[in-house]
Amino acid sequence: MKKISRRQFMTTASAVTLGVVATNNVSAFEKISSSANTLAIAGGTPVRQNKTWPKWPQADEKVIESVTKTTRSGIWCRIDSPNGTVPTFEKEYASLMGAKYCVATGSGTQSLHTCVEALGIGPGDEVITSPYTDMGTISGILSARALPVLADIDRESFQLDPKIVERLITPNTKAIIPVHIMGQPCDLDSIMAIAKKHNLYVIEDACQAHLAQFRGKRLGTIGDVGCFSHQSSKTIPCGEGGSIIGDNEELMDQCYTVMNHGTNKKGRSITIGPKYRMNEFEGAVLLAQLPKAIERWKRRNENAAYLTAKLKSCPGVVPQKLYDGTESGSFYLYTMGYRKEHFNNVDRAVFLKALAAEGINLSPYIANGLHRESWVDHILGLRVYQAMYSPARLKQYKEELQCPVCDKVCNEEMLMLWASGPLLGTKKDMDDIVDAIMKLYENKDQLSKVQL
Ligand SMILES: *Cc1c(COP(=O)(O)O)cnc(C)c1O
Repeated sequence: MKKISRRQFMTTASAVTLGVVATNNVSAFEKISSSANTLAIAGGTPVRQNKTWPKWPQADEKVIESVTKTTRSGIWCRIDSPNGTVPTFEKEYASLMGAKYCVATGSGTQSLHTCVEALGIGPGDEVITSPYTDMGTISGILSARALPVLADIDRESFQLDPKIVERLITPNTKAIIPVHIMGQPCDLDSIMAIAKKHNLYVIEDACQAHLAQFRGKRLGTIGDVGCFSHQSSKTIPCGEGGSIIGDNEELMDQCYTVMNHGTNKKGRSITIGPKYRMNEFEGAVLLAQLPKAIERWKRRNENAAYLTAKLKSCPGVVPQKLYDGTESGSFYLYTMGYRKEHFNNVDRAVFLKALAAEGINLSPYIANGLHRESWVDHILGLRVYQAMYSPARLKQYKEELQCPVCDKVCNEEMLMLWASGPLLGTKKDMDDIVDAIMKLYENKDQLSKVQL
């Protein structure tokens, strides 16, 4: 079966479909043909036979031992010991990322909120970020009662569009939160230049982007601070957890203080802050994840590069665009843009259903951009927002909350593979993904008959 080329397959199979080959001498042959040329959703043989992918997260003996050790030690809170798992993780993570300091928190959302507070951003201030992200990106802006201004994204990279960011800057803009969506670098050259020109802080939302590199640096070390999530699905996980990295000692001390309910390292309570400490069990899991993190990150990058190279032969799916300066991603997610004109104009839902029947499950990912959710009307009705922003500003804010590219990506184009586990797979696993997509592409005429 391997020896027959795809082209040969196609020719022979159309002969079968046309009934040119006599039915009595083609039994074995027809089987091969039908697996290659009849979509699984129409009764053909699925491309992928193996139903299992590398699972995620992974708990090896090291993780189990580490948690057990913490349990027995009685050191369950980070302030119980300067050598506990959390302070140790902070040191090791900073060093792995090439940052001077790290402050651990309870989640990526908490990390972002901590940075917003630590930078003194509050009511009356504005922060520009992407609508195509986790709610955690703007949750901290809202908790600080500042205004999240959402700039539309680029259709090919799914990242914040710098031209729109610059257009949305007002005298009250204090910071940009660029999101490295899918774990790959956003257009950092442009974003950093805009921030410099307008004197804005940059809080990198690197919640998906562990270990990814841009122009010789790890993501999270390029802006003023970088925030990470260690939630279960992410590539360095502990269930729920977060971290902040940065080189500015004063700012990172302030992050610690905010994270520690406003109490600084000397035990003095000096500012407003929630209590966002990571606990020692989470630290124990994270520490035990670090030894394998680099090897896994390399493998995901190799597999992603392999997929991207192979998918070049299919114009109907366009792998996420990477910007100049990108040296690696985290490949938390591997994503493509769906171009229906290359698939007989069938909607993405049809493509996804037919692909799933071939044994490959991709997701449409985020259903709606954040500009489409009802927090907008909620905050516009709050006294603090009405007091801190002029009626004209709030009216303009609502009018400008339009992100047509984000809408198109959400509604029609995004194809997403949860990659933390699957991209640790074999070349055969990657071939299955490509072969299933190519099968749909080469047999696109059959897609029109698929019922949703
Ligand atoms: C996961 C994620 C967050 C939030 O992190 P949590 O740990 O889930 O709070 C923020 N931004 C992005 C881009 C994320 O993917």
